[in-house]
Amino acid sequence: MTWEERWHPLRQEWVIVAAHRQDRPWEGETLRQPEAKLPAYEPGCYLCPGNSRVNGQTNPKYSGVFVFNNDHPCVGSKAPEELERPIGFYRNQPAHGTARVVCYTPRHDLTLAELSVPAIEDLLRAWQEQYGELSSGSDIQDVLIFENKGEAVGVSNPHPHCQIYATNFVFKTMETEAAVSQQHFIETGRTLFQDIIRAEQLDGRRIICNNDSSIAFLPYFARYAYEVFIAPKESHANIATLNSAELTDFANALKTVLVKLDNLWHISFPYVLTLHQSMRSDCGFHFHVEIHPPLRRPNLLKYLAGPEIGGGNFLSDTAPEEKAAELQQLPEIHYKQIRQTEQG
Ligand SMILES: [Zn+2]
Ligand SMILES: [Zn+2]
Repeated sequence: MTWEERWHPLRQEWVIVAAHRQDRPWEGETLRQPEAKLPAYEPGCYLCPGNSRVNGQTNPKYSGVFVFNNDHPCVGSKAPEELERPIGFYRNQPAHGTARVVCYTPRHDLTLAELSVPAIEDLLRAWQEQYGELSSGSDIQDVLIFENKGEAVGVSNPHPHCQIYATNFVFKTMETEAAVSQQHFIETGRTLFQDIIRAEQLDGRRIICNNDSSIAFLPYFARYAYEVFIAPKESHANIATLNSAELTDFANALKTVLVKLDNLWHISFPYVLTLHQSMRSDCGFHFHVEIHPPLRRPNLLKYLAGPEIGGGNFLSDTAPEEKAAELQQLPEIHYKQIRQTEQG
């Protein structure tokens, strides 16, 4: 039984772990089981090669990773320059920036978990290039790379893709993590995330994958049941400076984690995957990927309610050690691949 509060050192907040309540009855919403077999090419998909998009542009017949400017950008160069001044002391500014979409593969029917390690490495290199290019833009303070996957997080098109927002402000979580990392360095002379990695290695119970230069773990302070962090062991402020050996190890760790998540209940696991990085190399920021899956059990979503939305702190019904143990036991070969082998 785990019933305690755990300190989240990156967000500087308490997480209430109340794992003793797991078996209380639940009559909440359940997810549909989608899992219909998808075609490799879908004529109606705006991300598939050769298809046209809403703005009339046609996708090239791309073969690897394909990047284009978002047709419905939330930030962009066309955002109004002249803004109405708000009444009172409120402030506003133009929604400047760049929004892009990154298709991982021309294959409509694959997910990141199902891509080969070399294909994931290609994607990581594309992320490096995009980060380098976009972060050098004038007025750009942050480059947020994220993937929303699955209907549970509101994505209806299964074509594997992520989005990039290059913005004229720093996203709140990265701003907090950067400030906290800098403060930790001033106070201790150590990198905060290195302390997290060391603590996870010392404990060992929550490590999901560990290779030469990368590590993946379900953190001690996890807010979501199956939340996983993946990081290079060396500190890099952002993905742009990882060398090719580190990229390969990182791709392997990412693949292992995603395959295990899919293998958990033999469903394409929904999640929000975000690259946490900083354009500042002076604040002790340590690049990492955070995966936040919204499911707590099959067909059971984690709802954000009173404590989270109302109070701003997370209440977790599960013990990170138990959830990590579940993931550790799972095979590193994707269930669809195992099925194919059995059938053929
Ligand atoms: Zn498609
Ligand atoms: Zn983070």
